[in-house]
Amino acid sequence: MLRTHRASTVRRVVAGWRRRGLTVGFVPTMGAIHAGHLSLVERAARHADRVVASVFVNPLQFAPHEDYRRYPRPAQRDRRLLRAASVDLLWEPRAAEFYPAGHRTRVKVEGLGDVLEGASRPGHFAGVATVVLKLLQVVGPDALWLGQKDAQQARIIERMVQDLDVPVRVRRAPTVRERDGLALSSRNAYLSREERRQAVALWRGLEAARARLRAGERSAARLKAVVRRVWREYPRVREDYVAVVDRDLQPLARVRGPALLAVAARLGRARLIDNLEWNGR
Ligand code: AMP
Repeated sequence: MLRTHRASTVRRVVAGWRRRGLTVGFVPTMGAIHAGHLSLVERAARHADRVVASVFVNPLQFAPHEDYRRYPRPAQRDRRLLRAASVDLLWEPRAAEFYPAGHRTRVKVEGLGDVLEGASRPGHFAGVATVVLKLLQVVGPDALWLGQKDAQQARIIERMVQDLDVPVRVRRAPTVRERDGLALSSRNAYLSREERRQAVALWRGLEAARARLRAGERSAARLKAVVRRVWREYPRVREDYVAVVDRDLQPLARVRGPALLAVAARLGRARLIDNLEWNGR
């Protein structure tokens, strides 16, 4: 596995592959690599000749009071895991090089970035869209791999790629979960033992709502009530939102076709999200 912090090296290596006619898949991450990230790498490798991964805790997507400083950065472990997962090139940008003094441009995807996560985290998705566009400009992959775990992020990036004619195919991979259903996340490391035990509430709530959907329930209000009823059994879980939205992340009163059930909650100092896609069946 090649490893660099320089954009120029990434460009040079990828250009060399391109001259040989090789295709490239790209997996951007913030590190603290877990099986969710590795599933993206595996999929990227299955569909392309070479895989580029990036590890960059992007300062632009954190609000001042958020966890940028304490976000886990186990660099050696991340390198080992990504190498073992057969990443060909690991890009570890340095913040001061990636965002040199005077950097001012932000990518804002109107309407999609200020609901759900965006309502709780103003400016977050402008930071995400900006970093992803910059990464794509340098790597120039055939495919960009994103996790369904961050469904809103994936939707925003898909929209940005389409709107700005970025020549890349955006692909989503399903959420990888712990045995009890908790979605893998670098932020799970913030949970105490008891909080970890109760964190399963997010998925249990979504599963309960899915059971009701399967039974024919279509009222968004009642589906949200189902999630909240489950959460009442987990006193450490403090709701941030429970939402039923359409493909464009707009709230639904009734589920008539495809829908996304999205939830966010705080447990201690962790803020966790999860979601469930409903395809009408
Ligand atoms: P992050 O390092 O949290 O920025 O995530 C990097 C990529 O991995 C994003 O596309 C995430 O959606 C994806 N990802 C994070 N957690 C999971 C998971 N549990 N299952 C699948 N993909 C994930």
